[in-house]
Amino acid sequence: MDIIIEEDTCVAAGQCVMVAPAVFDQSEEDGSVIVLDANPPESEHENVREAAMLCPSAAIRLQEQLDA
Ligand code: SF4
Repeated sequence: MDIIIEEDTCVAAGQCVMVAPAVFDQSEEDGSVIVLDANPPESEHENVREAAMLCPSAAIRLQEQLDA
């Protein structure tokens, strides 16, 4: 799984950080998302999918590898 962030669309809502704190963080300056791990381990995939679903601006895009 690869995480791609549409930085221009992030509205700094922080939902992603609440759901997957091991993968997402927020900038202290403007609250915009920081990806800590753009290629997270299997154990984080469910959290990341939930974060992408909850993101109010759909700023989180996921690329799933079919063979992984
Ligand atoms: S949930 Fe979406 S809008 Fe909110 S900080 Fe994360 S990426 Fe940005």
